[in-house]
Amino acid sequence: MVDISSILSGMHTDRKVQIRGWLHNMRSSGGIHFLLIRDGTGIIQCTMKKGSVEDRVFEDVKGLTQESSLEVSGTVKEDKRAPGGYEIKVENLRVHHRAEEGYPIAKKYHGPEFLLDNRHLWIRSRKMQTILRVRAKFLEAAREWFKTNGFTEFHSPTLITAACEGGSTLFPVKYFDQEAYLTQSWQLYAEAAIASLGKIYTIAPSFRAERSRTRRHLTEYWHLEAEVPWCDLECIMDIQEEMLGYVISVLCDEMAGELESLGRRVDELKGMKPPFERVTYDRAVEMLNEEKVDFKWGDDLTWTHEKILTQKFNKPFFVTHFPTGVKAFYHKPDPKRPEVTLSADLLAPEGYGEITGGGQRIDDLDELLRRMREEGLNPKDYEWYIDLRRYGSVPHSGFGLGVERTVAWICKLDHIRDAVAFPRLINRVYP
Ligand code: ATP
Ligand code: MG
Repeated sequence: MVDISSILSGMHTDRKVQIRGWLHNMRSSGGIHFLLIRDGTGIIQCTMKKGSVEDRVFEDVKGLTQESSLEVSGTVKEDKRAPGGYEIKVENLRVHHRAEEGYPIAKKYHGPEFLLDNRHLWIRSRKMQTILRVRAKFLEAAREWFKTNGFTEFHSPTLITAACEGGSTLFPVKYFDQEAYLTQSWQLYAEAAIASLGKIYTIAPSFRAERSRTRRHLTEYWHLEAEVPWCDLECIMDIQEEMLGYVISVLCDEMAGELESLGRRVDELKGMKPPFERVTYDRAVEMLNEEKVDFKWGDDLTWTHEKILTQKFNKPFFVTHFPTGVKAFYHKPDPKRPEVTLSADLLAPEGYGEITGGGQRIDDLDELLRRMREEGLNPKDYEWYIDLRRYGSVPHSGFGLGVERTVAWICKLDHIRDAVAFPRLINRVYP
């Protein structure tokens, strides 16, 4: 048994092979059946001539339904006309399961809601297969970068009791006779873990009860986060740049065909390599005002503002030093200018906007307590977190990258929901 991908890479030319997969599509003409078979690693054309297989097998294939699962054996031939450049001349075929008639996602136009209702089948489409593969490669490359650079993978709990990114997007969970929440970020726990493990990262789901319908918010998303001791704002921006630069170069090298098929030109993506420009929030306000946008210093950047800013750049760029008032309590105020924080968001170009958020954390006990009081938080709820400033506090920074937002940008998707197999949205938790 071989993978279709290995056939398409030319490893089995003129040899006999056996594959297993699903019937993606079929047509017949002039005594030949052309079957497109998919096995999860690729798609290949298989041709079956009358007379080259037993008559019973040839008759069996007539009227074979899309998505039937099969086993095929035959000889691999190079053929420029075949999609992918190779085909299998079928010598035998066994139907493992004949799919029912009326596959819901037959080849015709379907609206987005229908495809979301049938997501369990839609993920078999070429488009979704391709995106899911790019996503997997993205995470594989990121892990590789973290490993090479001395980071340890660390896992934080999903059930938590104290908010990290503000109470309004917390999902409450009944935890026996207590109330708990689903985590919005690993961050507070990561700050505890750096004193144990040093440089750490995670790739895990985060949950946000986002009440607005947008093209870039999910209620459950995958969060790639890193936390680094002895690291300031500049250092954490450098880390993001290097990591993303590496991941993008791997995707350009290993996923070029996939990216192009999604409408993302590889040369365009190659051009988006670091360094990424660093623009202060102050400068971003000026840029918006130059565009005649009514935006006041101290307001938070919304997607509409980010969209305008992204038109001025052709690669990702950082916006740094956000006002203390728009950032969560743990962001370290700039000692030279306490009305702004040592924070940075990374914005993707082409209207995509924020893909990472992060910066330097408060490491001083009194400053942390003061900021908590200002934000109306009860220090009692954060006792363990505050403790970290009592026992060997160090300057430290971190960031969180939205996996789906970044994949959506890299794959040039128009909605974040297609960057994940089973999206969770304000009006959807099924299938
Ligand atoms: P936004 O203002 O766009 O809602 P945020 O400031 O709430 O984002 P952070 O708390 O900084 O986001 O989270 C870090 C990263 O996680 C973001 O840069 C983004 O890529 C991703 N992210 C945040 N919320 C969501 C969401 N609801 N769905 C998907 N990704 C998200
Ligand atoms: Mg948000």
